[in-house]
Formats: sequence, structure tokens, C-alpha cells
Amino acid sequence: MCYMSTTEPTVFERIVAREIPATIVYEDDRIIAFQDIVPKAPVHLLVVPKTSEFANVTELAAGDPQLLADIVAVAQILADDHSGGNYRLIFNTGERVGQTVFHVHAHVLGGALSEGTLGF
Ligand code: AMP
Repeated sequence: MCYMSTTEPTVFERIVAREIPATIVYEDDRIIAFQDIVPKAPVHLLVVPKTSEFANVTELAAGDPQLLADIVAVAQILADDHSGGNYRLIFNTGERVGQTVFHVHAHVLGGALSEGTLGF
């Protein structure tokens, strides 16, 4: 029997499928990274697992901790390339703190960040 998903693909799945464009800065078999379309810092990259099975970092940590570790390792590689090795890593978790895409993703912020705030 064939079950078809009724869930719409997330914007990040569509980027993985090359259905919508993105400035891709890293890709391997399980992870893709690209520039945020509305950057909130001089360097603002998103590191995204290709699978859409995890909505947020809590689910990812419970379900595939190695993939979470790999995302952090990619964040460091990108920070080395784009931000002198320094970076801020943000996982918005929940609508009330600003999560808009429910396909887990890490924001890698770098460059000259404004002081005195943990947000962006
Ligand atoms: P969040 O608010 O944590 O769910 O982050 C979602 C992020 O995805 C936002 O910073 C958006 O600017 C970004 N975003 C949404 N659509 C695109 C897109 N097509 N290409 C790149 N970044 C996007």
C-alpha cells in the first residue's frame, strides 16, 4: 500500500530539492547550509538537516544526537570560513520566541554583532 503525505514540504525541503533558490555555502549527504534570506547579522547562515522529521532542536537531540553534533560541527566550519571562527548559535524553539519554520535549523550569526543582546 502507498501512503502519500498530506503535509506541505517546508521551505527548507524545497531548497534541498532545488525548487527554490538559495545561496548554498555547505552541503553533504545529511546537511545543507545557506544564507538567511533576511540576514539579522553581518554573517547569518542557516544550517539545516535535510530530513524534515524533526521540528525543533529538542526533537533532534532526542531522535538523532549525532546529527545535532554534526550540525554544530558544520556551524564551526562555516564560522571559520566566514567569521574568524567566532559565532553565535541559535535554535528558535516555539512560535512565541519567533520560530517560523518548523523544520529544525541552526542560525549561525557572526561578524560584528551588536553587544548587549543575546537576540537578533
Ligand atoms: P526561524 O524564525 O528560527 O524559524 O527562522 C527561519 C529563518 O528562515 C528566518 O530567519 C528566515 O529569514 C529564513 N528563511 C525563510 N525563507 C527563506 C529562504 N527561502 N531562504 C533563506 N532563508 C529563509
